[in-house]
Amino acid sequence: MTLSTRGTIGFWGIALVLPLLGVVAAAAGTPAPAPAPTGGTPDGGAAAAPGPSDLELHRRAIVIDTHADTTQAFTYFGIDIARPQPDLDLDLGKAAAGGLDAEFFSIFVFPRVVKPAEFHNEALRQIEALERVARANPRRLRIARTAAEVRANAAAGVLSALIGVEGGHALAPGDGPTQLEHLRALARRGARYLTLTWSNSNDIGGSSGDDGEVRGLTPFGQEVIAEMNRLGVMVDLSHVSDPTFWDAVRASKKPVLASHSSSRALTNIPRNMTDAMLKAVAQNGGAVCVNFGSAFLDADFHERENAIWSKPRPSDRRAAWRQIRADGAHLTPPVTLARLVDHLQHIAKVAGPDHVCLGSDYDGVPALPVGMENVSKLPALTAALRARGFSVEDVEKILGGNVLRVLEANEK
Ligand SMILES: [Zn+2]
Repeated sequence: MTLSTRGTIGFWGIALVLPLLGVVAAAAGTPAPAPAPTGGTPDGGAAAAPGPSDLELHRRAIVIDTHADTTQAFTYFGIDIARPQPDLDLDLGKAAAGGLDAEFFSIFVFPRVVKPAEFHNEALRQIEALERVARANPRRLRIARTAAEVRANAAAGVLSALIGVEGGHALAPGDGPTQLEHLRALARRGARYLTLTWSNSNDIGGSSGDDGEVRGLTPFGQEVIAEMNRLGVMVDLSHVSDPTFWDAVRASKKPVLASHSSSRALTNIPRNMTDAMLKAVAQNGGAVCVNFGSAFLDADFHERENAIWSKPRPSDRRAAWRQIRADGAHLTPPVTLARLVDHLQHIAKVAGPDHVCLGSDYDGVPALPVGMENVSKLPALTAALRARGFSVEDVEKILGGNVLRVLEANEK
């Protein structure tokens, strides 16, 4: 199955069919070490080790990641993220080691596998699975709905789990009023963002990932945005077509988010944001959270990663995903941490430091920059940002302050 960055969902999404086949979680293999990076800049490169003051800054800051696909792993495979999971970019131990304070767990219904009649129910099932993880680990993970709850949990040393629904098809099936009722149901369950589309166009509007790339927001999409604004569910513009982006950023009366997209000026792929889009998000008061996936950060890497998707793989999809990740780790030259900082710096320059944030896409992409391979590595990003010349204040905004501001603005 070829997905590429137009439709990256990772193994966990690809493998939704596996529970039906009776596949159980197997002992995890250790991924092969990545080759040494080349072409890193001396400042803020992969070699930047966090000094004590950088570490202190990182621990003090509220660190928020707006997109991880880990939900698929515990919903469909019963993988316990309370225990170390070498196959996952995010488990509770790695999150604590990385100083992460809040994660938006993506609620993603794979439209190529789940029947349309079950889209909304399947989204609710994933939320239930996240609630079960929180109930089983009350001292380590709590569902959060507001910026105030994120701050309180952070002060108590507990990871906040926020709910982000990826793809407006999770409102289907049904007519307009029914889908709006499904939106209200998701909001009652704690959903704080809805990505208007995934790679599939839907009743709301066109997607960047299919032939809807030339279509914008529908009249129903306008209604959905008005209701999201009323409910305080953030409008997430990652994955949408360019026309949908422009229609939606004009329609939303509240600040918008791009939960996992990088800069199109640096990496020209449809999933990334043009400079004009960055400026529009800034004017709207929203934020663009950079996707860490190597293919989102480097166009050459994107090309090479596409070849990985088309290679023949074993029918056991977990084994297939391990191979894809191993192949991704061996693509040379790998993308550097400095390149990730380039994207953050570009967005900070074009949109301003109040409008840039972190949307890793952990457990959703096959390859990540050297030094940022999983959530435990986040302190190195703080060190790299400081080494690049970002002020303490701006680093705190990028790590989480900007997302808290957008969340809070949507609560009003
Ligand atoms: Zn996505």
